[in-house]
Amino acid sequence: DNAVVLDEVTKRYGRGTLALDGIDLRVRRGEFVCFVGASGCGKSTLLNIVSGLDKATSGRVSVAGRPALMFQEHALMPWLSSLDNVALPMRLAGVPKAQRLERAHELLASVHLGDVVDKRPHELSGGMRQRVALARTLATESQVLLMDEPFGALDAMTRDLLHDELESVWRARGLTVLFVTHNVREAVRLADRVVLLSSRPGRVVQEYPIELARPRR
Ligand code: ADP
Ligand code: ADP
Repeated sequence: DNAVVLDEVTKRYGRGTLALDGIDLRVRRGEFVCFVGASGCGKSTLLNIVSGLDKATSGRVSVAGRPALMFQEHALMPWLSSLDNVALPMRLAGVPKAQRLERAHELLASVHLGDVVDKRPHELSGGMRQRVALARTLATESQVLLMDEPFGALDAMTRDLLHDELESVWRARGLTVLFVTHNVREAVRLADRVVLLSSRPGRVVQEYPIELARPRR
């Protein structure tokens, strides 16, 4: 049962760069896949195409439901509190106010930010802002998460904490995650499978299944 399927996906920008060249990819429901590779190898392009932000030049893309995206730049609304930032996707989806505020409180508590619900982004540290962004991403109820170096700018300790939080939510909700990173250690820490993209031209060159010492869900 696949959540994301790419068949022979090619992306050429204008008449120039061939960013992806015939990518075949199957991601099972509930799988956590990390994409690694040198800068410029097509990782962001791949996520943008899976998300629908950008269109493939050729090939077929199919995704179960509407995915949620999270970037390195948190893109929180500066004038909104943490609570209202997290509640925003639910507001856009028409979730009634009482219900979305309760859910936003729960999500902020799950990333250990229960005591800063009223603070605005500029009053928080970088790591806290990324945790708010993670909570907001999870507020979408999407089953497929697309994450483009979401923790790249954080110090190692904050990153470890966010890995734990992401992993526990991923397990609890059976999410499918496509996660881009430069950091091989991060990929091995998080993934069921690591996909290495080659830069010339953008192709899958190698896949590494990760054998985990502990049982999966
Ligand atoms: P990263 O290596 O962190 O993915 P990049 O610098 O490759 O970041 O890309 C950052 C953004 O700029 C992406 O949204 C990408 O699509 C866009 N971009 C990258 N290269 C070009 C380019 N040659 N022309 C226009 N946009 C580009
Ligand atoms: P990565 O995320 O692995 O760093 P990208 O997907 O950002 O790689 O970029 C893949 C290739 O496509 C790079 O050569 C980049 O310069 C080029 N590229 C990315 N976005 C654009 C764009 N909007 N216009 C033109 N070229 C782009």
